[in-house]
Amino acid sequence: MRRFGHVINGATREAGNGGWREVFDPATAQAYAEVADGGAADVAAAVTAASAAFPAWSALRNSERSRWLERLADALEARLDDFAHAEARDGGKPYALARDAEIPRAVSNLRFFAHAATQFGSQSHHGEAGLNYTLRQPLGVVGTISPWNLPLYLFTWKIAPALAAGNTVVAKPSEVTPATATMLGELAAEIGVPAGVLNVVHGLGPDVGEAIVGHPDVKAVSFTGSTAVGRRIAGIAAPLLKKVSLELGGKNPTLVFADSDWQDQLDTILRSVFQNSGQICLCGSRILVERPIYAAFRDALVGHALALRVGDPMDSDARFGPLVSQAHFDKVVAAIGRARDEGGHVLCGGGALDRPGWFVAPTLIEGLGPDCASNREEIFGPVATLQPFDSDDEALSLANAGDFGLAASVWTRDLPRAHRFGAELRCGIVWINTWLMRDLRTPFGGMGQSGLGREGGDDAMRFFTEARNVCIAR
Ligand code: NAP
Repeated sequence: MRRFGHVINGATREAGNGGWREVFDPATAQAYAEVADGGAADVAAAVTAASAAFPAWSALRNSERSRWLERLADALEARLDDFAHAEARDGGKPYALARDAEIPRAVSNLRFFAHAATQFGSQSHHGEAGLNYTLRQPLGVVGTISPWNLPLYLFTWKIAPALAAGNTVVAKPSEVTPATATMLGELAAEIGVPAGVLNVVHGLGPDVGEAIVGHPDVKAVSFTGSTAVGRRIAGIAAPLLKKVSLELGGKNPTLVFADSDWQDQLDTILRSVFQNSGQICLCGSRILVERPIYAAFRDALVGHALALRVGDPMDSDARFGPLVSQAHFDKVVAAIGRARDEGGHVLCGGGALDRPGWFVAPTLIEGLGPDCASNREEIFGPVATLQPFDSDDEALSLANAGDFGLAASVWTRDLPRAHRFGAELRCGIVWINTWLMRDLRTPFGGMGQSGLGREGGDDAMRFFTEARNVCIAR
C-alpha cells in the first residue's frame, strides 16, 4: 500500500511515534494508502528544520527565490498528469477537473508568487522633515493549514506567497487528502530547494494543526477550513498575539434576474452550484430567482442537474464525483433529511446514489424559508435551495441574511443594478455574470463568519511580511 510520509528537512519520514492512518478512495470507500499519523514532536522537528533554513532562505535575493518557485512550477507542470491522477484518487474529484483546472491553477499560484517576489516593494514618502520608507521583511517560520476540497490548489495558494516573501514553512494538509502536498514537498527536495524551507507534516488537526498554531517559533498561521476550526485557531493564537489569516465557510447566494441571459448561462450557473460536488467554499448554495422566470429557470436547472454525468473520478468524461469521506457523506445526507423535515420539496437528487463510494446525487430543493437551517448552515455538498424574490430590495435582503459573507454571483444585464449589488452585497467577492473567475492580484476572503483577513496578490505578501518604517532626517 502506498505511504505518504512527512517531508521534513528535505527528507521523507515516518511519524516519530511510528503511527500510520488509512487514506480512502472516495469512489470505492476502500483504503488505498496510508499517511503518517504525526503529532507535536513531528511539528517540533519541522519547526527546528525551518528555523535553521530561514537565515539563508531569507537572505537570498528576491530574484533567486523567484527562480526556485519557477523551477518548482516547471517541475509540477512536467508531472501534471501524475498529480491530477493523485488528486482525483485522493479526493474523488473528476480527473478532468484536476487535470484541466486545479493542478494548472496550482502551477499558476507558484508562478504568480514567483513574479510577486520580484515586484512586491516598499513605499517611500518624501516629507519636509525627512525621507520615510517602508521595509517589508519576512516573519520567519510560518504555518499553513489547508483543507481537503482543493488540496494542492489551496496548499500552493499559501506556501507560494510565504516562500516568495522569504519565510520558511511548516505546512499541514488535510489528513483526508495528503497525496499531492506530500508529492510537492518531495518534488521540492528533488529539484534542490534547500532542506527545511518547505516542510510537510501530516496528522490530525487537534494534534498537528494545534501544535503548529501553538508553537512559539511559528510567527503566523494561514488557515483555510471550517468556521468552527477557524474559531479554535483564533482562540489559540490570540493570547500568543500571533498573526492569523482565516479563510472559512460560506453559504453563498446566486441571484438570477429576469433580464439576465440565464438560458445561455445555465451551464455556468450549474457549475457554480455543483462543481467538485459542491465542495468548493465559493459554490452557490442559495439560488434566488426573480419570480417571473422562477418556474422556467427551476425546470431548466433541474433538467441540467439530472443530465450531469456522474462517474468514477478516473473516467475522463465524468463531471461529478463522490464526496470526500464517509463522515462528510453522512453529514450531507443528514442535511438533506433535515431539509425534508423543514418542509423542503426535493426537486431532484435527494440522497445517496446506488453504487459503491460516497456519491450523493445533485440535489435541488424548494419551498424553504430564509430562516431555516438549510438556508443558514453550510452543507458543503451537492445541495442547493431555490427561493423566488419580487424586488431588488428583497433580493438583497435575502442574499445578505445569515452569518456568512464569502461570495455571491449576480446574473443581470442591468448595469446600475450590477453596481448596486457589487456595493451592497455583504461578502468578500461578488461575481457579475460569471463565477470563479479569479485574477490572483485581487483580494480574496470573507466577511462575518466567513473569515478574517484577505489573501491573494499584495494582501498575501503583506500578511507574510512585517512592515518597518525607516525615517531619515533631512
Ligand atoms: P476543517 O475540518 O476545518 O479542516 C481544515 C484543516 O484544519 C485540515 O487540515 C484539518 O486537519 C485542520 N484542523 C482540524 N481541526 C484543527 C484544529 N483543532 N487545529 C488546527 N487545525 C485543525 O475543514 P475541512 O472540512 O477540511 O474543509 C471544509 C471547510 O473549509 C468548509 O467549511 C469550507 O467552506 C472551508 N473552505 C473555505 C475556503 C475559503 O477560502 N474561505 C476554501 C476552501 C474550504 P484534519 O482534517 O487533517 O484533521
